[in-house]
Amino acid sequence: MKEYDEIRSHLIAMLEELNLRLTSITNDIKHSDTPLEKDFAEQATQNENNEVVDYLGNSARTEIEMIKQAIAKIDNGHYGICQVCDKPINKERLKIMPYSTLCIKCASKKEH
Ligand SMILES: [Zn+2]
Repeated sequence: MKEYDEIRSHLIAMLEELNLRLTSITNDIKHSDTPLEKDFAEQATQNENNEVVDYLGNSARTEIEMIKQAIAKIDNGHYGICQVCDKPINKERLKIMPYSTLCIKCASKKEH
């Protein structure tokens, strides 16, 4: 499993960064929990910001889950295998998207 050591430490670094990002997003939410501004325009902006914050938080959480799964797969020896066709995922692809679970063929099929 040594061949994935580098990717594994890369994934862990990504995980730490995402956790930090998520913490700061969550702090933003807390900050915007202060009573809404009376001015309607400002209120609308604030609601929009909350939506963006929600979106960022959700996508960070999804990414964290995918990274955790990838690390678990490295640990149990299932890493780098396409979920759909069971074929090895291209190493170059794994370098760019270390937590991808589909090979290029299946990923592009899924997109179309
Ligand atoms: Zn595939």
